[in-house]
Amino acid sequence: MQTKPVIPTNFDFHSHSAVSDGFLPPREVARRAAANGVDLWALTDHDTLGGLAEAAATAAEVGMGFVNGVEISIEWRNTPIHIVGLGFDAQHPGLSGGLEALRLGRVERAQRMSDALAAIAIPGVLEGAMRYAGNPDLISRAHFARYMVEIGIARDVPGVFQHYLTPGKPGYVDHRWASLEEAIGWINAAGGVAVVAHPGRYKMSGGDMRRFLDDFKDLGGQGVEVTCGSHSPDHIMHFARLVRHYAFHASRGSDFHGPTESYVDLGKLPQLPEDLKPIWRLVR
Ligand code: AMP
Ligand code: MN
Ligand code: MN
Ligand code: MN
Repeated sequence: MQTKPVIPTNFDFHSHSAVSDGFLPPREVARRAAANGVDLWALTDHDTLGGLAEAAATAAEVGMGFVNGVEISIEWRNTPIHIVGLGFDAQHPGLSGGLEALRLGRVERAQRMSDALAAIAIPGVLEGAMRYAGNPDLISRAHFARYMVEIGIARDVPGVFQHYLTPGKPGYVDHRWASLEEAIGWINAAGGVAVVAHPGRYKMSGGDMRRFLDDFKDLGGQGVEVTCGSHSPDHIMHFARLVRHYAFHASRGSDFHGPTESYVDLGKLPQLPEDLKPIWRLVR
């Protein structure tokens, strides 16, 4: 039986395990969340539901509330964006089938990234990156960056991203992710709620952000991360204002990937502004 707090005091609805690009297995992420005082937790691995059963079982063992989660890679008008899904039925074939297609695309993209790096005399990066991938289907730029640090291409992971793996840089390749409509459709069909992940990270004008949020709302999206690992106090104020304007619910998530490669630890982030409607109210 799961123990779900009636009113959570420290919910964290964004985190990763080694089933995508995190460092710890789901059970260790669960234990760490509980040890940090998280009382309602979601594992939100990129484009996979593979860690949810272990996460749920461990959360139950340690008496922490748990909801199913996923972070879906989409593109909207050529901008890559992440949509978090929460509280869905993990057995729903629409969601799991859509994610499976996304994972196939990742493998093909990784080969193109590796080819592009080989062309600037950095060979063998796909093979090297695969050694960092807990799940080869979920090969990501994060694994590329970790391997490229190992071979001395840059001093740290952000340095690799800055010089090699972001738009305009030699190891970056364009890619077709899911559409916004697909991601929200899959989540909602499976009984979940769709949330915009870390909106402060997208390089979008204010006008484009509003057009994006208009589309997100029209397509059935319900939440926006207001407090998250990568948001400054200014971001929190800004997105709280947008959430009020659109009457969205607000989410909160650390985006924890591991003890050495995260903005903040599980549960260790500010509370939501008090007047906002917390997203956990919409989640089963
Ligand atoms: P991908 O899904 O393959 O495009 O990889 C994106 C992942 O790389 C994100 O989920 C982060 O974990 C990581 N990441 C993206 N940008 C950066 C950055 N500038 N510095 C460090 N890690 C990053
Ligand atoms: Mn990640
Ligand atoms: Mn993300
Ligand atoms: Mn994330």
